[in-house]
Amino acid sequence: MIEQTLIVIKPDGVVRSLTGEIVTRFEKAGLKLVGARMVKIDKAHAEKHYPADRDELWIGIGNKTLENYEKLELNAQELLGTTDPKAIGDIVRVWLLDYMSSGPVFAAVFEGPHAVELVRKICGHTLPLLSAPGTIRGDYSYDSAALANKGQRAIKNLIHASGTVEEAEYEIPLWFAKSDISSYKRTDED
Ligand code: ADP
Ligand code: MG
Repeated sequence: MIEQTLIVIKPDGVVRSLTGEIVTRFEKAGLKLVGARMVKIDKAHAEKHYPADRDELWIGIGNKTLENYEKLELNAQELLGTTDPKAIGDIVRVWLLDYMSSGPVFAAVFEGPHAVELVRKICGHTLPLLSAPGTIRGDYSYDSAALANKGQRAIKNLIHASGTVEEAEYEIPLWFAKSDISSYKRTDED
């Protein structure tokens, strides 16, 4: 039940000076900070973080985008040149690699009961328009798929968080050596 999960405050979150605010939200929810580092990653690292061969991830991004386009009455064929979810995911991936390697990011590992799901809940929905007030993205992000895609770039939504326990198990070692993860007891744990 006690899980570890990765968060990465994306370049837009760092330059908007939201790092402290974002870390505080997780700490206040009872999650234990067990690893942290600021780093500017290169494309190779970004490629590993968003692996090209994870079809389900890219199809998922494509489908999320298509749903959003439908709701906003936007034409994916016109804006992206395709309506195929995987092809859309592949286009977004290229933008995402540029975005994640464009400036310093702040990576951290949080630990706690159901940490993966809890962190995702605190982050809010991927698309700023659909993220609820009170969540990090709902309170601080204002970008949209339409705006981003017209500008041929990724949606600036402040934070990445592992989507599943398996994703967390893959991602954490990519960003942290085992020796950089700490073990301690929070004073409120008892
Ligand atoms: P999450 O970050 O919530 O786990 P995904 O894994 O589905 O979301 O997508 C990864 C990232 O790709 C998003 O956080 C966002 O920055 C970017 N993204 C998703 N869909 C689009 C899109 N249609 N256009 C541009 N960027 C997108
Ligand atoms: Mg994701």
